[in-house]
Amino acid sequence: MCEITIQVNCPYCHSVKVVKNGVKRTGRQNFLCRDCRKQFQHTYQKAGCRPEAKRLVLQMLVRNAGIRDIEEVTGVHRQTVLRWLNQKADSLQVSPRQGHYDSVQVDEVWTFVKRRKKCKRWLFYAYAPETDEVLAWSWGNRSEHTVRRLYRQLEQLRIGHFCTDDWPAFTKVLPKDRHMIGKAYTKNIEGVNLCLRTRNRRLNRKTACFSKKEQNHENAMKLIFYYRNHHTL
Ligand SMILES: [Zn+2]
Repeated sequence: MCEITIQVNCPYCHSVKVVKNGVKRTGRQNFLCRDCRKQFQHTYQKAGCRPEAKRLVLQMLVRNAGIRDIEEVTGVHRQTVLRWLNQKADSLQVSPRQGHYDSVQVDEVWTFVKRRKKCKRWLFYAYAPETDEVLAWSWGNRSEHTVRRLYRQLEQLRIGHFCTDDWPAFTKVLPKDRHMIGKAYTKNIEGVNLCLRTRNRRLNRKTACFSKKEQNHENAMKLIFYYRNHHTL
């Protein structure tokens, strides 16, 4: 008779200091990592319980996968995917890295919720090319109120000048002496628009993947902005 030994590594910290820790109601062996104190099993009944599932789902959310694509590929239920999306977005804080920026570009992107393309949800956001960073954003209609809400978030920063296109709402809100208007000044943010439309399935043009709830919509964008700024989640 030969004895086979299987070494179990912790899926969270890869430690080998793993001990048995009882049996689950499903009959599966439970393990405990002595280093990070997390518990885990060898196999799981539900795909969403696997330790690596959440990281994979979040990664797919910021790499242009729709909710149902993620459900199909990972086996995690779409309601769980949406719950993780909202939980993660609530835990993230997108805040500017610097107190001073020479130049900030501001632009608007149309999006929609519930397939009502007539009722667009406009996204205004500020981008700093010198640090390749999205500083702040606001949701609403394409009016000066939405621009004003964005500007209020930027007031605490020392900004040399604002670059925008010639949309009248910008002229009404941004300080005249520090406002530069013209397509030539907003080349960088136009590139970011393209990146946002490519990375987020909800922002793809001619897509059947759209948000049914505004909260999901806004949180999906928050994840994208955080991922853009930090290159990780
Ligand atoms: Zn561990």
